Amino acid sequence: MSYPEQFTGFGVYSPQEWNHPKKHTFAPKNFYDGDIDIKIDFCGVCGSDVHCAHGNWGPSYSPIIVGHEIIGKVVKAGPKSNHKIGDRVGVGAQAFSCGECKSCKSHNEQYCTKAAYTYFGQYPDGYNTQGGYASHIRLPGKFAFRIPEALDSKHAAPLMCGGITCYSPLIRNGAGPGKKVAISGIGGIGHMAIMFAKALGAEVYAISRSDSKKEDALKLGADHYIATNEKGWETKYADTLDIILNCGSSWSGIDINLMLSTLTAGGKFVSISAPAADETLAVSAFPLGGKSISQSILGSGKEIEELLQLCAEKNIKPWIEEVPISADGTHEVLTRADKVDVRYRFVLTDFEKEFSDAY
Ligand code: NAP
Ligand code: ZN
Ligand code: ZN
Repeated sequence: MSYPEQFTGFGVYSPQEWNHPKKHTFAPKNFYDGDIDIKIDFCGVCGSDVHCAHGNWGPSYSPIIVGHEIIGKVVKAGPKSNHKIGDRVGVGAQAFSCGECKSCKSHNEQYCTKAAYTYFGQYPDGYNTQGGYASHIRLPGKFAFRIPEALDSKHAAPLMCGGITCYSPLIRNGAGPGKKVAISGIGGIGHMAIMFAKALGAEVYAISRSDSKKEDALKLGADHYIATNEKGWETKYADTLDIILNCGSSWSGIDINLMLSTLTAGGKFVSISAPAADETLAVSAFPLGGKSISQSILGSGKEIEELLQLCAEKNIKPWIEEVPISADGTHEVLTRADKVDVRYRFVLTDFEKEFSDAY
C-alpha cells in the first residue's frame, strides 16, 4: 500500500457495532483539479458522529468513517484548489456544494440541495464520503479553511463543525449587545455557543436540564443559569428572552411550549439539534404567538473564516479532552459521548503514531 492509493481509517460497520469502529484501508475518491489531500492530525468528536454511528438518521453505507472536525496539513494540492502543500487547514461537516444555485451564490452553500456532508454524503460522481477518524481526507479545497497562526490545532478542531454550527445562527439572528440570548443544552456545541454569544456582546442565559453544569456555564461566560428541572422556571423568565439557541442532541428532554413562553414578542427559537429522524416537536399555537421557530444547519465558508478570526483575536478555546486515536480510543470517545460523559468536546490526537503505515 502506498499513499495516495489507499487511506486508512476507523469505520463503523453497522449500527449494532456503533461504538466498535474497525481499522481498514479504503480508496479515496477520484482526484480533481480543485481537490486537496490532507494528512490529518486532530479530529473532534461531534454529537453527529454518535447519531450517525447509531443509524439514528437512517441507514448508511458500510463501513462509514465518521468525524468532521478535522485539522491537518495539505500534502497534495490540485492546481485549482487555492491551497498549497504544507498549509494547515481545517475541514468541517460539508465537503461539496454545486457552486451554481441561489444558495451557493449567496453564502448559503450549506443549504445547497446538492450539498454533500463530509461523511454520510455522496459526491456527484457517486463516491460515498468518508470522514476524519482516518489518516487522510481528500476533498475540494473550497471546503478546507486556513487556520490562523494564533490558534492551536487541537482547539481549532471543534470549531470546524460544532463551533460554526452555533456561531452562524447567533450572528444571523442578531446576537449582540442589548440582546438576551439563551443557550439551551450545554454539550459540545452549547458550551462553545455560550463563549461566542458572550464574545458577541449579548447577555447570556445558559439553560440546562439540571443544575450540574452551573459552575461551568458561569465560567464559560453565562450571566444567568436556568435549570429546567426546577418547577416553575418558565414563570420566572416569561417574556424575557430575544433568542433561544437550542443546542441539545435530542428534543425529548425539552418542553418547547415552556421555552417559547420565555421569549419576548419577536423572539426567535432557533434549533441546531439533529435528533433521530422520528423525533418531532409538538408546538401549541398560543406560546408561539409573535415568535418564530427555525432550524439552522452548519454555516457558510465565509462565516467559518470569520469564526476562526474571532477565536484567534479573542483567544477563545473550546474545553477539550484529548484521546489518542486507536481502536480503543474511538470506542471510548463514542461510548462516552453517547452518555454525555465529556466536558465538553473530545479531540482525537496522535494520528501519526496510529497511522504510521499509511504515509
Ligand atoms: P453533545 O455534546 O452530546 O451535547 C448534547 C447536549 O444535549 C447535552 O450536553 C445535554 O445538555 C443535551 N441533551 C442530552 N440529552 C438530551 C435529551 N434527551 N433532551 C434534551 N437535551 C438533551 O452533542 P453536540 O455535539 O453538542 O451536538 C448537539 C446536537 O447538534 C446533536 O444532535 C448533533 O447531531 C447536532 N448537530 C447539528 C448540526 C447542524 O448543522 N444543525 C451540526 C452539528 C451537530 P444539558 O445536559 O445541558 O441539557
Ligand atoms: Zn458535527
Ligand atoms: Zn448549490
